[in-house]
Amino acid sequence: MTMRRLLLCVLLLIASPLHAAEPLNVVASFSILGDFVRTIGGDRVNVTTLVGPDSDVHVYTPAPSDAKRIADAKLVIVNGLGLEGWLPRLVQSSGSKATIVIASAGIAPLKLGSAADPHAWQSVLNAKVYVTDIANALAAADPDGAEAFRTQAKAYLEKLEALDREVRDAVAKIPAERRKVISTHDAFGYFAAEYGVQLIAPLGVSTETEPSARDIAAIIGQIKAQKIPAVFLENISDDRLIRRIAAETGAKVGGTLISDGLTGEKGPAPTYIDMVRHNIKALTSALDH
Ligand SMILES: [Zn+2]
Repeated sequence: MTMRRLLLCVLLLIASPLHAAEPLNVVASFSILGDFVRTIGGDRVNVTTLVGPDSDVHVYTPAPSDAKRIADAKLVIVNGLGLEGWLPRLVQSSGSKATIVIASAGIAPLKLGSAADPHAWQSVLNAKVYVTDIANALAAADPDGAEAFRTQAKAYLEKLEALDREVRDAVAKIPAERRKVISTHDAFGYFAAEYGVQLIAPLGVSTETEPSARDIAAIIGQIKAQKIPAVFLENISDDRLIRRIAAETGAKVGGTLISDGLTGEKGPAPTYIDMVRHNIKALTSALDH
């Protein structure tokens, strides 16, 4: 075969319909799930994230264009556990026939009172369960891509395994009696349970309700009694409450924790792995001395 004929064959192969499959349309409810889908799906998927960077998924108001995105999707990936209370109505009004994938289905939920705590992704071990289940859902929706999804998921799971060790090593360097902080809302229950840092919040597992004066007074009392060294802002929440608590207790503001949504590309946490690293760095630099 001449060089020219070989080149022609290669070009035909690249241009053949087998290689020009339409990407799978996937909607993710919020940015952390969007990051997982993008990482596993690569260019075989076209991912749309409903709740954008630095935004609060608990209290999202869907835009009319969101119904169209859901109508066009083959898969809709959601966290579940009550995080996206606004979603069922949106799916219904869109008339979508998409498969709804609940990414948290494989984890053991924590309870806070009678409600499930939705923030399971804050444990890296849970994130591994999300990733495995999302890879399976993508493979079921696009069997030709199954091999590619499995390969990409495997590589990513190895990174998450290493990330989990990084978190444990970082927490181990914080003196045990200093492993306690205040955050804005109860987003870190799974992180606390997995890694042994106590995080106390004036707001519950949802940002939907305002804290009462009594809740705030209780937190202020607790900071003083337990000598809690630092309070943290959150990227999705208003700063004022935490700044007020800091001013009234003398606790230092340790920085910003990324809780329920990634930052934009220019922020410190455009990906899940960046988010976990940002948070452990913020915690250790505020607590380890
Ligand atoms: Zn939350």
